[in-house]
Order: sequence, then C-alpha cells, then structure tokens
Amino acid sequence: MPRDAKFDVLFEPVRIGPKTARNRFYQVPHCNGMGRTFPSSMAAMRGVKAEGGWAVVSTEQIDIHPTGDITPATEGRLWSDQDIPYLARMVDAVHEHGSLALIELVHNGKWAANLYSREIPLFPTHMPVVMHNAPVQARAMDKADIRAYRRWHLDAARRAVAAGFDIVCCYAGHNLSLAGHFMLRRYNFRTDEYGGKLENRVRLFRELIQEAKDAIGDRTAIVARFAVDEMRGADGMEWDKEGREIVEMLAELPDLWDVNVAEWDNDSVTSRFGEEGSQEPFIRFVKTVTTKPVVGVGRYTTPDRMVSLIRSGVLDMIGAARPSIADPFLPRKIEEGRIADIRECIGCNICVGWDTSMAPMRCTQNPTKGEEWRRGWHPERIPAKSDEGAVLVVGAGPAGLEAALAAAQRGYRVTLAEAAEELGGRVRRESRLPGLNAWGRVRDYRVWQLSQMSHVEVFRASAMTAEQVLEFGARHVAIATGATWRRDGYGRAHQAPIPGTDLACVLTPDDVMDGWRPKGSVLVYDDDHYYMGGVIAELLAKEGFKVALATPESRVSIWTQHTLEQHRIQARLLGLGVEIVVTHRLTEIRAGAVSLACTYTGRPRELQADAVVMVTARLPVDALYQDLAADPNRLAAAGIAALRRIGDCHGPATIAAAVYEGHRFARELGEVLPDVPFRRELTGLSRDFRLP
Ligand code: ADP
Ligand code: SF4
Repeated sequence: MPRDAKFDVLFEPVRIGPKTARNRFYQVPHCNGMGRTFPSSMAAMRGVKAEGGWAVVSTEQIDIHPTGDITPATEGRLWSDQDIPYLARMVDAVHEHGSLALIELVHNGKWAANLYSREIPLFPTHMPVVMHNAPVQARAMDKADIRAYRRWHLDAARRAVAAGFDIVCCYAGHNLSLAGHFMLRRYNFRTDEYGGKLENRVRLFRELIQEAKDAIGDRTAIVARFAVDEMRGADGMEWDKEGREIVEMLAELPDLWDVNVAEWDNDSVTSRFGEEGSQEPFIRFVKTVTTKPVVGVGRYTTPDRMVSLIRSGVLDMIGAARPSIADPFLPRKIEEGRIADIRECIGCNICVGWDTSMAPMRCTQNPTKGEEWRRGWHPERIPAKSDEGAVLVVGAGPAGLEAALAAAQRGYRVTLAEAAEELGGRVRRESRLPGLNAWGRVRDYRVWQLSQMSHVEVFRASAMTAEQVLEFGARHVAIATGATWRRDGYGRAHQAPIPGTDLACVLTPDDVMDGWRPKGSVLVYDDDHYYMGGVIAELLAKEGFKVALATPESRVSIWTQHTLEQHRIQARLLGLGVEIVVTHRLTEIRAGAVSLACTYTGRPRELQADAVVMVTARLPVDALYQDLAADPNRLAAAGIAALRRIGDCHGPATIAAAVYEGHRFARELGEVLPDVPFRRELTGLSRDFRLP
C-alpha cells in the first residue's frame, strides 16, 4: 500500500554537516546491555534498525578512557585501537542498509567508579562517585587533566572515523558526562577559566565540539547532545535560563542538536508517569535559536504527531530510543502505508531494566529484541512452517496471543481459545490499573494482527478442558493459561504460610482487579517488589481507602529502580497519604490488626488494618497442562505431537517474558534445538600470556 502523502515530509532527506540522512528518523544513542560484552548481538540489533528505515543509527554511550570506566555496566568502549574492530562491525551492519552510523563519545565523570581500571575518577571538583555508592571519590581535574581529557576525546573521535562512523556525538546529557558536569553550578566551583560564569562552564563542551570539527569535520558530522533542563528547578539546568543560553552560545557550532531533559529517568519517563511528547515544552525553543537541524525524543509512535512536530517547527528529525526498540521497522511501516502494523512501545522500561541489570536488553512488545544475532530472530521475518499440522493455543494473554500470531505468521492454521469474553489475559486486567493504560497495546497490536488473518480462528468464552483439547486434535498445542497471585504469603521473605492468611479479610491483586474491595483500612503487603504492590496501594488510596504499604525491602517497589520509576512510585504513594512501612515482614493477620517484625532486629510492631492485600508471589494455572502431560499415549492417540506450556503458566514472570515465551513456542515448532539454544560469543583469548 502506498503511504499517505501527508507522511511524505517524514521521508525528506536531512543534511547533517558533510553527511545526508535519507529521512527524518534518528535512533538516538541508547544503552542495550550488550555493548562491548556481547558485540555481535549489539551490532546485529543496530543493523536491523537500519534495515527498518532509521536513517541515523547510534551506538550506546562509548567510554573513551580508563578514567571513565563504568564496569560492571556493559556499554561500549573506545579506549584504544583495540576497540575499533567490534565497533566497525556495528558500522558495517548499519551501512549495509544505507543508514548513517553515529557514535556517542562519553566520559562519565563522577558516575564512573573505575572498578576495573582502578584509575582515580575525574570531575570538575572533588566529589564522591555516584555509581553503587562505591567508596571512591572523584578528584578535581587540574589544567593538565583537562588538556589530557580533550586529547582523549579527539583520539576517540579519530578512532571513530577509522571504525567508519559518519557522525560523532559530543555528549553533555543526563548528568552523565564530564562536559555536562562542568556546566552545572552545583558541581563546578572552579575559579579558573573553566569555572564561574556560564561562558567558562561551557568552555569544555565548546572545545570538544570545536576540536572534533577541526580534526574530522570535513568528513564526519559533529552532533551536540545536550540536556536543556534537569527538571529540578533553580537547583539545576533550566531550559528557559542557562539551558537556552548554552544553545544560543553554541548555536551554529555543531552540525546538529540532539536535545533532551536530564536525568535518564526524566528522558525515558515511563508511560505510568509521562505521556508521549512530555519533553516538548522544554525543547521547543531550540529551533528558534539555531539554524542547524534539531532532534528530540518523546516516545513518539504516532505518525501524525511526528508530522505535526516537523510542520510546526519543533523538530527536524524524530528521535527515538524506545519506539525503535519496540518496532525497529517503524519508519518502513510508515513509508509503506502500514500504520496499523506498528508495534507501539508501551513505555514500561523493561528494556532499561535489563540494561541496568547489566544484561542484554529485552522488550515487552518486541520479543526478538536482543535475539537478532543470538537466535537469528528477525523482527519482521519468520521462517515458513515446517509441517502441515494445525496449532491450538489455549489462553489469550500475552503469551497465547503472541504464540498464535507468530505461528500464524509462519503459515500454520491456528486456533486460539480463551476462557474469558475479552482477550488479553493479565494485560486486559492490569492495563485498567492506574497509569498502566498503555500496556493494553500488547493486546491491541496482536488482536488486530490476528483479526487480519484468515487462517486464524479465535474463540472467546471458551474454557478448554483436557478432553476438549484432545478432541480438537491439533498437532501442536500451547497451554498459556497464566498464573494467579498467592494468598498464603509465600514469597521472597517467607517460605511458610503466614498465620491468618486464610481469613476472609485477606485479598490478592486478582481479587482487587476482579472488583473486590475491602471494608475499612487496608494493608498492602509487598514481598514481590515490582510494580503490583505500589499500583494496588495507589488504586485503593485513590478510591478513598486508608492504605498502608509494608514491605521487607528498604523501599517501595524496589525493583522499579531498574525501570527508573522507584522514586516516582514512592513519592506518589506518599502524596496520596499511604503510610509506608519498610524493612518489616508480616508475621500474623488477625481481625482488625496485623503483626509485623523488623527484618533486622525482629522487633514486633502492630498495625491496625481491617483487610490485607497479599502481593507476594504467583502460582501457575497449569492443571490443564499437567492433566494433558500426564498421559503421553493419550496425546499421541489424539495426534498431538508437541505439547508446551508457555508464559506465566510455565513460570510466572514479566509480560515481556510471556510474550517471549509465546514467540519462542512458534519459532521452535518443528525444530530440534541443542541444550544451549543460541549462539554465544566468547572473548578472544589474548595471544600474550606471559606472566612476570
Ligand atoms: P500469560 O501472561 O502467560 O499470557 P495470562 O494470565 O495473561 O498469562 O493469560 C492467561 C489466559 O488464559 C487468561 O486470559 C485466562 O482467561 C486464560 N485461560 C485460563 N485457563 C483457560 C482454559 N482452560 N481455557 C481457555 N483459556 C484459559
Ligand atoms: Fe517500550 Fe517497554 Fe519495549 Fe522498552 S521494553 S521499548 S519501554 S515496550
């Protein structure tokens, strides 16, 4: 289908210094948990984005020197010529599809604890490092350090050219880079020409850009990436004060401005706390003070919104990290008039969560993310079916929907049976909780795709029994019947039932999502530590209940540190008047009260509560699977060659894991896999193993 002419503007080329981007889609630098540790995985992931139509494809942050070593994080590194080949692999993957490759050169200043290099970290002034609260301090750079740092940056820029990069990005964003740290009054107490008035504090950034331009600017474009606002008021950078002045000072120096807000949690705000385009008020001014092209981000997935950003003069290029992760083919789909096929990012930050866990990135919407090289999974292409058998999928949650879709894309005849009237499973229920509406996209995308396929039949309100599955006679069967929350208290802190959990006043998140409400005051007991405890407390507090939240952990929803939301969740609950009791285990529930115990001292504490919502752990709903699996002869007699349980029914986990399991089921139909079912990349052994 040809694209709508209104989207033509998105496919105009954009000149960036000596280079030309073939359209207005710009994948901004983003971490991915692969970097230098899993380099071929990283390179293939970037190549797929170029294939999907992103005209500029960027690296993650690339450390330029051992004094800025963020071990154990897995980001890129360009310390010496030794690092060039793996980065060149990424460049080649991007060039293969006609896109421009960008490298972001970074020195993290006080963010780098230098755990591997053992160098003393560098900063404008003496300051403890931030990473892991490590017992390490950064030292104030003297003039020689600044000269050395400029030289390292330039050396890295030259090496980037040797690796084949088209664009070098000088970085002053996210409170993560030395050049940015120098700009901030709260960090820079220097009295030399790099401190004091704004012009001095910007000097280092100006020098980095100017020196890169002078050395390589004839062949390579130079980008300034800058956070115009830190969203911390007068204590930090503000877009309408120094943020604006800085862009004005350097307006025509770089070949392009890539602007955003700091820190990372503000730039990559989750959909629970920020809408599409939430940065617009902060970055809107930039185009009024420079003639150079401007890139900005805002979890943009709507083509009409993108057109309006270009037409109204807010941006020249649509920047994206997460939308390009959820759908690497987003530009191509717009170009080909396939808007309904776009897999829209849901803003859950699971991608960030795996990166901050130092593991290869995963995506809730895109099960192939991180698997491009390792398993050879392409986000848009899937091998044709390997046999003529039909596929039956039981359960239409994220696992079942994705299993049905991917199997149908392979060409299998697919039947999807769902017990409920509505499709979506946990996503249907959870997307109705406060702030999680966008999560419904996991269901919507798949339900729409399935509705377009004539070889797929979907049966709603069809709870399947083992007999019905056997009678159905499909060759391949996936049981995706989900999981339910436990009521008995088993969890991370408790390996035995908690006394009183059999009382009628004890609810689970399933009960709350089903509409059950307690009477009187409520304790939410969170031994799960992801979003559910916090979100149930938020829901009930907003409905007017007196709510307390107790957790054995030191913070509410503590795992959401990885999705950059923890501080917002805690602040929201405090704002709603929720009483927060941390480092306490629940020891007993009685009528009208609960007993807690301090996790350190065991000291008891009583709390008045008329009801308790137990958010601890889940159990698979796998009776149907167990029933079927118990008798292989019965399966064989029914013509069932493969029976698999997938998603939460297999092992309760994230929605991302359920989607992945569904996809994997379909990919592996008819395959016999080795024990390690993916390619691995092992570090090349050094030839030099002489010991002193
Ligand atoms: P997952 O996250 O693994 O996809 P969900 O809990 O989201 O799991 O979805 C499981 C779905 O399976 C739910 O929609 C539920 O109604 C459905 N289901 C459970 N048992 C049956 C059954 N016997 N027959 C059909 N559907 C079922
Ligand atoms: Fe978007 Fe979530 Fe995928 Fe990240 S993991 S790209 S936030 S859908």
